[in-house]
Amino acid sequence: MDLEELKRLGKDPRFISGIHNYCDRWCERCSFTEKCMNFELSEKQHSTPESRDIENDAFWESLSDTFKLTLELVREMAEEQGIDLDKLDVDDTMEQEKLRDEQAEKHEYTIAAKKYGKMVDKWFESAKENFEDKEKSLNKKLLLDIPGDTPEEEAKVIEDAVDVIMWYQHQIWVKLMRAVRGQMWEDEEDFDFPKDSDGSAKVVLIGLDRSIGAWGILLNSFSDDENNILNILVHLEKLRKSVEKHFPEARKFYRPGLDGPVEKE
Ligand code: SF4
Repeated sequence: MDLEELKRLGKDPRFISGIHNYCDRWCERCSFTEKCMNFELSEKQHSTPESRDIENDAFWESLSDTFKLTLELVREMAEEQGIDLDKLDVDDTMEQEKLRDEQAEKHEYTIAAKKYGKMVDKWFESAKENFEDKEKSLNKKLLLDIPGDTPEEEAKVIEDAVDVIMWYQHQIWVKLMRAVRGQMWEDEEDFDFPKDSDGSAKVVLIGLDRSIGAWGILLNSFSDDENNILNILVHLEKLRKSVEKHFPEARKFYRPGLDGPVEKE
């Protein structure tokens, strides 16, 4: 892809501007791939099976092409806007950023989100045997072929729930860090709506809602481990309530495309 094609894509009305800013990056499960320029770009850059393979030279070549193309675009934009790329703006911005990072990491919600990530690891580690037993019992059901029993479906439901938990396990912390840090900046700058912190908090809440749903499925399938799963669910629910309280506008935040038809300006 060359610079002209990149610019052409940028003007393509098919794409919803900014749709990727507040999504959960789970492109495989996203129903907006047709409307997402980010997705199109990534498909074009990694369009062959080889280029998807991280251990393949093609992947790194493709990444290097993206780097060159991006650099070209940045240089062109800098020239248009009279920005001197050779001059570094040394001010206290980095110091402030570092301070906000440190404060965000110490925030009780981000600490709770990190703890959740560890709880997930611990549970999956302890549940290995349970998964093996479940597999055996589902295979047995498959052989018995009892009318009304749907072991394949059950296996798929469990697999999907595990996928959901894994997908959001660390993303909740990452997005919450962004929301908390963003809120500090917005407060300092007296920023008005719409707030990026609310958009990020909304992604956190969606991740929490879906994770709670997924743990509910596991609770159903692994009833012997009810106490441990309930502990995780209680932790998640507390976190969800806290985030909702701390970011009261988050649920209402409009994410372009993802939250319904694009609003006309
Ligand atoms: S909007 Fe959908 S396709 Fe685009 S980056 Fe997000 S998850 Fe992927």
